[in-house]
Amino acid sequence: MDESAREDQPAEDTTLTGTPRPITRWGEPVMHRPCRPVDSFDEELRTLVADMFATMNAADGVGLAANQVGVDLQVFVFDCADDGVRHRGVVCNPRLELPEGRDRTLAESEEGCLSLPGAFAELARPDTATVHGVDHTGAPVTYTGTGFLARCLQHESDHLQGVVFGDRLPGRLRKRLLKEAAELADDYAADWPAGQPPSGSPQSMEGDGSGGGHVQ
Ligand SMILES: [Zn+2]
Repeated sequence: MDESAREDQPAEDTTLTGTPRPITRWGEPVMHRPCRPVDSFDEELRTLVADMFATMNAADGVGLAANQVGVDLQVFVFDCADDGVRHRGVVCNPRLELPEGRDRTLAESEEGCLSLPGAFAELARPDTATVHGVDHTGAPVTYTGTGFLARCLQHESDHLQGVVFGDRLPGRLRKRLLKEAAELADDYAADWPAGQPPSGSPQSMEGDGSGGGHVQ
């Protein structure tokens, strides 16, 4: 593990004690409405976060929002490589900051979602993003990302506002994405990825993680 990434690490036991939960799919109401802010930083939240890390790892994901395991709370986890550096963290009650005006540059890349497993589409997003919030203990956190991490922070913050990435696509591309997902639906059990052994180490993305990855 890269020294420079160490400050991004949550307590190790957070990732070790969790149990994968079934992932909620697009179409379930909890995926399409804003989540409630976290106001209790208690054992229940800690268990949720541990289970979210376990679920994300079991599904080979790089990010996961609480409503993707059916929980109506503003919290997401991520474990995402960008430029060869691994970034990992927990964000409750995120406030997303995106560049505006001249600072705003869009990057187009393939994007996917664990709640629509197997389907991907090209989507343009700002190439830099900052998220402010608190972690599962209530301590303030700020993460700034470029490239794939920027995409991940935006994708997960969107989830907690009830926005899935298909909502950001033109109708024709959204239709194609949903068709692709429907064709692959039989590949994923209804309780996927629960019941599967967690992968030994969280993967980055396909290949070297340097671009064109799949955000979840
Ligand atoms: Zn997603």
